[in-house]
Amino acid sequence: MLLLVKSGGEKAVADWQACFRGADPRLDVRSWTDPSVRPEDVRYVLVWEPEEGRLGRMPGLRAVFSSAAGVDHITRVADWPRHLPLIRMGGDDTAQRMGEYIAWACLSLLRDTRHFALGQAEARWAHRETPFSAPRRRVGIMGLGNLGAAAAKMLQGLNFPVQGWARSRKDLPGVRSFAGSAELPEFLATTDILVCLLPSTPETAGLIDAALLARLPAGAGLVSAGRGQHVVVPDLLAALDAGHLSGAVMDVFVQEPLPKESPLWTHPRITITPHVASLASRRERAAYVAGAIAAQEAGQPLPNLYDPERGY
Ligand code: NAP
Repeated sequence: MLLLVKSGGEKAVADWQACFRGADPRLDVRSWTDPSVRPEDVRYVLVWEPEEGRLGRMPGLRAVFSSAAGVDHITRVADWPRHLPLIRMGGDDTAQRMGEYIAWACLSLLRDTRHFALGQAEARWAHRETPFSAPRRRVGIMGLGNLGAAAAKMLQGLNFPVQGWARSRKDLPGVRSFAGSAELPEFLATTDILVCLLPSTPETAGLIDAALLARLPAGAGLVSAGRGQHVVVPDLLAALDAGHLSGAVMDVFVQEPLPKESPLWTHPRITITPHVASLASRRERAAYVAGAIAAQEAGQPLPNLYDPERGY
């Protein structure tokens, strides 16, 4: 069965092939750019940012796998096959890694590591006392799905009080749950570190703007690890410069790589990472995809399906 892969570039193809051989040797894994592949023979694709005009021309395709948890990089392509299942990357390793990133980011804001990094770059002893410890910083997670729930658990292990906001009410041990736009103001008013782990949808685009940031308590911090589209950058910069926000850790941007001229790069209150928060190893992802293909071929339900009604 032919699986076409576009993730990590040409240099990753051999590694993908080895990982899939370990997961299910029956899969014939080929590169997206392999000229010997006939489009009609392709049954599955595993992709990141497929270009226009490819997915729509594979008449035997049975499902599309996103090589990451978000699927906006596929649904923005005009000819993506809407009639086929679209599967978001999931699994324990993706959640574990995001939990680690969010824990690191919240601790970075708590300990103001950006301040120390700036001092180190100038060989300057930038001594500063840490005003709070974790039990005094309430972390509010926007998006309590696969990743948000894992992050909540890890933060609780560090003694941060944790609450979350989603469309629907959640029942996670020790996590205060807020649901829907009516409960957003109270969620924000009681959040000292705001973590965004929402998907990119028309409803969530530009959600983190001046009005939302103004509802956070003075001195709050932001961790942006969902998608760049969530944050209105000029509003974020204004809130930081006014001192209303104390810092931000950002992993995702509207344009990636973040352009050299972006003011985000050099801002003294912002820590930037290049979209690395959570990507499971190829071995883990191959095992996940092979398992889902086996389920599809056996007529069983698929995990983590994209829902066009919800938009994620
Ligand atoms: P998920 O399981 O689908 O969870 C999404 C959560 O967001 C759900 O709790 C959902 O609420 C909530 N939500 C969606 N739309 C909402 C809205 N309009 N208002 C309030 N809540 C809303 O997704 P996931 O696997 O946790 O991944 C989340 C996102 O993280 C991905 O879409 C991707 O953009 C991002 N991500 C980033 C990286 C990185 O490296 N930076 C890596 C992986 C993923 P309900 O449960 O009530 O529906």
